[in-house]
Amino acid sequence: MTRAPAHHPQHRARKRFGQHFLADAAIIEAIAGCIAPHPGEALVEIGPGLGALTAPLLARAGALTVIELDRDLAARLRARAGLTVIESDVLAVDFTALAAAAGQPLRVVGNLPYNVSTPILFHLLPAAASVRDQHFMLQREVVQRMAAGPGGKDYGRLSVMLQWRYHIELLLEVPPQAFEPPPRVHSAVVRMTPLPAAGVFGAAAAARLGELVSVAFSQRRKLLRHTLGRWLAERGYAGVFDVQRRAEEVPVAQYVALAREVQAAQEAQAP
Ligand code: SAM
Repeated sequence: MTRAPAHHPQHRARKRFGQHFLADAAIIEAIAGCIAPHPGEALVEIGPGLGALTAPLLARAGALTVIELDRDLAARLRARAGLTVIESDVLAVDFTALAAAAGQPLRVVGNLPYNVSTPILFHLLPAAASVRDQHFMLQREVVQRMAAGPGGKDYGRLSVMLQWRYHIELLLEVPPQAFEPPPRVHSAVVRMTPLPAAGVFGAAAAARLGELVSVAFSQRRKLLRHTLGRWLAERGYAGVFDVQRRAEEVPVAQYVALAREVQAAQEAQAP
């Protein structure tokens, strides 16, 4: 393995910020190759850290915006030409506003802090219409759950809640040794491409989808009639939905169709 030069050997990795810095030059190059940024694109990196990924992205694109929570790291990054540094918790950043300011959809990238990776994915979800694509390094098991199809143990709330809005591909698996310090888990790079707006529904139906998927997967070993079936009955649902199966057997499109129906029925009932 070729180690990338340690630009800032004096920085001690902070555990509470999920800091594991990429140190394998071949993997860094492979990730930058998957992203393939070009000048003029609105590139945003979450958690640039010591800049392992930032440097090859900057070399290709000439400019990018980075969001870093660690004050010391943000200060170092400010010294680099071509970077716009937002020193903030990424969960407080308004991505829709960033895209509006850039005048184009964003390309969001990052080797995410694993302790907050799911909240980051859910924070980005309502901004999907302002995003061209997302490339993230995550814990491998999380990527497997994100990309899983129905029928297996990996298929769950995360799969449904992301797949109704994004096309999801696992691009690359990365071993712990590629990081400094090495994390305890294996990692993977995922590409998330928002689906065309035609397949998208409003915020209220999206909230309904979140609710019914949580209910459906609350007891995944049981048949849906014990969980989702009850939930639907309480709402006076009069449609046809097979509850004699388990949550993991229902394809994403069927959950989405059900959320639409339930939402439409509730809107029709509202005074
Ligand atoms: N991109 C670098 C690399 O690949 O070497 C660092 C990746 S490290 C896994 C995660 C980075 O995210 C760290 O630099 C950490 O300080 C930063 N970070 C942690 N929590 C954050 C948050 N809530 N908002 C923004 N950045 C955060």
